[in-house]
Amino acid sequence: MHETSLMENLITIAEGALEGKKAKVKSVTLSVGKLSNALPAALSFAFKAMTQTGPLRGAELIMEEIPVKVRCENCGLEYEPDEFPYICPKCEETYYTITQGEDIYIESLNCQEL
Ligand SMILES: [Zn+2]
Repeated sequence: MHETSLMENLITIAEGALEGKKAKVKSVTLSVGKLSNALPAALSFAFKAMTQTGPLRGAELIMEEIPVKVRCENCGLEYEPDEFPYICPKCEETYYTITQGEDIYIESLNCQEL
């Protein structure tokens, strides 16, 4: 499952950040891009399953949806498209590069010092 390996990577990153620190993680905030194709329920399930033990034990998972942002390849305008097809509001060009909304990453770790 896509979400499982994704969460495995995220947890490895979080644990790496915690290494050598004496802290208890209260919550992990995840930024989930709208185009990431990950199911929040599956992410949540994977997180719970993988944090039964280890430094993230008992931490809460908070997910924030990140909207899609694209940059028009014609005029360079960055805009947040609503739905397909993406059309530049300035020049009506449909040639664009996605600049935000495809990734999933850890936004922050809320820790409590021990
Ligand atoms: Zn444009």
